[in-house]
Amino acid sequence: MVKLLTMKKYFIKTFGCQANKADSERIARLYQKRGYQLAKSIREADVVIINTCSVRESAENRVYGLIRNLTRRLSAQTGYTLNAERPKVVLAGCMLRYGVTTLKKKLPQVDEFLRVEDYSFDLPPIRTEKTHAWVPIMEGCNNFCTYCVVPYARGREKSRSFDEIICEVKKLAKQGYQEITLLGQNVNSYGKDLKPRKKFSDLLREIHKIRGIEKISFITSNPWDLTEDIVQSIKLSKIDKHLHLPVQSGDDKILKEMNRKYTAKKYLSLINQIRKEIPEIKMSTDIIVGFPGETKEAFENTVKLCKKVGFDKAYIAKYSPRPGTAAYRFKDDVSPQEKKRRWRVLEELINNDNTI
Ligand code: SAM
Ligand code: SF4
Repeated sequence: MVKLLTMKKYFIKTFGCQANKADSERIARLYQKRGYQLAKSIREADVVIINTCSVRESAENRVYGLIRNLTRRLSAQTGYTLNAERPKVVLAGCMLRYGVTTLKKKLPQVDEFLRVEDYSFDLPPIRTEKTHAWVPIMEGCNNFCTYCVVPYARGREKSRSFDEIICEVKKLAKQGYQEITLLGQNVNSYGKDLKPRKKFSDLLREIHKIRGIEKISFITSNPWDLTEDIVQSIKLSKIDKHLHLPVQSGDDKILKEMNRKYTAKKYLSLINQIRKEIPEIKMSTDIIVGFPGETKEAFENTVKLCKKVGFDKAYIAKYSPRPGTAAYRFKDDVSPQEKKRRWRVLEELINNDNTI
């Protein structure tokens, strides 16, 4: 009991996507192993781990703001009622792509940097949900879409072993988890790097056999390697009839500049094919507005595509130039006001949000 009272406490603040949330569940294990217990709030933590996102500038700015806030309280001597000193600040995640030397100069307040090797898949996650679990099946990406930091921040595509994933899901079923979401930047290409080679559809079929698991979802798919075989495996009864298929733009010139490997026509024919096979399927997507060179006509092509598809939901982002990516060299020539207008048009069209 006495020991418990003196145990140091950690708090993890996670930015960004589900992959980061899953990483944070392993970072939690790392801190438990280091002898810490979870703090109820950031205010009572001895160590604050910030799991960062670098996909858009705004996400990075939120990290800078949080670090400033945490450390400013030190000089003001307010806010930390349980800790006499400011918490130790630890940085993890996609912003590590800048390298520790650069980050140390920019953020001297950071006490420690965690690299992915520190929270590898060997660490059993401490899950925050009781019936649903995130299960990463691969790391990284090989696609190099010109706007995107992921291949630089998370490295090249690396699949987790087939048996390791099956073993984890069986364990989850035994622990009472009924729903799982398989995670990867491009789940359709799962297994291409494994020996013997495995397919994503093999994984879906094998997980489908596991008793106790009632619902299987996955994110993210890409339009260029969503095979007929995968579409057939989605028909299995436990597979969620929802497909998240990022289109990014409905204009062929912009798609080419983005290094997306399909045309609007190809994307539409893929959607028709999927709907023919699985009529009840729900569709969601990601779209970037205001990519360099996106004229009003090019944007109208995106609007047209969206009207044709009738997405159930869309995650719409205003283009944000990211240092180190190929598109960073392109002129960011759509004004912030115009990006906002285009964003609003699509929000209202797809997400029916008239209040924004
Ligand atoms: N792997 C997925 C794919 O291929 O679409 C998505 C990964 S990315 C982390 C998530 C979303 O962030 C992208 O689909 C894109 O819409 C958005 N995104 C990525 N880079 C961006 C940038 N520089 N500016 C604005 N949005 C961006
Ligand atoms: Fe980024 Fe493209 Fe890879 Fe998705 S497929 S993570 S958008 S590079």
